[in-house]
Amino acid sequence: MTQNDTLKSAITILGEIVAFDTTSRESNLELIAHIQSYLHNLGIDSRITHDSTGTKANLWATIGPDIPGGVVLSGHLDVVPVDGQDWSQHPFTMWQQDGKLLGRGVVDMKGFVAMALAMVPQMLKSDLKIPIHLAFSYDEEIGCIGVRGLIADVVKNLPMPRAVIVGEPTSMKIIGGHKGSRSLRSTVQGVPAHSSDPRLGANSIMAAARLVTYLENLQQELISRAESNCPFDPPYTTIDLGLINGGTAGNITPEFTTVDWGMRIIPTDDGEAIEHQVRNFIDEHITPGLKKVSPDAGVTTELTNTVTPLVPDSSSAAEQLIRHLTGLNDSSVVSFGTEAGLFQSAGIPAVVFGPGSINQAHQPDEFIEISQLQECITFLYKLTAWAEQDNPQETLL
Ligand SMILES: [Zn+2]
Repeated sequence: MTQNDTLKSAITILGEIVAFDTTSRESNLELIAHIQSYLHNLGIDSRITHDSTGTKANLWATIGPDIPGGVVLSGHLDVVPVDGQDWSQHPFTMWQQDGKLLGRGVVDMKGFVAMALAMVPQMLKSDLKIPIHLAFSYDEEIGCIGVRGLIADVVKNLPMPRAVIVGEPTSMKIIGGHKGSRSLRSTVQGVPAHSSDPRLGANSIMAAARLVTYLENLQQELISRAESNCPFDPPYTTIDLGLINGGTAGNITPEFTTVDWGMRIIPTDDGEAIEHQVRNFIDEHITPGLKKVSPDAGVTTELTNTVTPLVPDSSSAAEQLIRHLTGLNDSSVVSFGTEAGLFQSAGIPAVVFGPGSINQAHQPDEFIEISQLQECITFLYKLTAWAEQDNPQETLL
């Protein structure tokens, strides 16, 4: 098998898996079954972990010996919605044009998944001394949900890998760090009244506005704390404030207002502490005024999601491995979250490294350049050859 054959096979596989609509709100079980049967035909067993509803699953598979110290190729199977986007062709039927492949998920990130799958025959032909694992997850796009169950299963039940490559699109550059995030929803319950006598009510929009102003001031405070050597851009924790819903009519004092807010946290900041600071402001400066009107009024704040930051570590096993195989000698950081932070926090060193550009992710007419796939296949051949040597880990010392 030549690299060119593997590339052709990867393109075929990519077309097949793009055709499964695995928008995060949909089940991914048909795609899981498709991958499982592909691997089964090559003699590889899949390990499946489901979500609590049983409609979504992660897949884990091992090529090579069943021992610790393997390398994980990790990707998510879900894609973002195409709703409201202007596609020039059907988004779930991949097409090819001007050296590119187009379709929903080709770059984010079924392209990487397809290449990992297309490599399996080559991996099987090689006498791998350490295992290469495939880790495919669900619901990454809505907060890195699925991979948590997969990681828990690995840590509890399987030989620990040495490194994880999360193949999100980085144009084949090493991303060694990313911000974390916390998403929250504050629901303000006021007291409805006719707007002709606001004294009888408690206005939830006005109360929510105080939270909004506080968040705006907090952003300024976080900016002022920025350190000049922070590698992130922007070099501080940022506040998300994306959605407000409240009120029913212009002449009714509004009873309910919800505010969806959150933050994208640099690894040196403590997101939980910042969250507590906001909660304290709410408790001390917003809730008492509402309670004065009615004991039922008040503010509840729930944490709806967190993404763990990837702390940059240029000496980690994951980064050393990629540097060794590619000759790249620098890494950078990004502001978007990935599954890499969760692997790292579970004790498995991780980097983000994959084909295609993040600029094409989530866009209509999403594409990946075939030259990027080619580059990724070359890398995966090097990885396989490396894993075939005696004591490959010693080459990294
Ligand atoms: Zn992605």
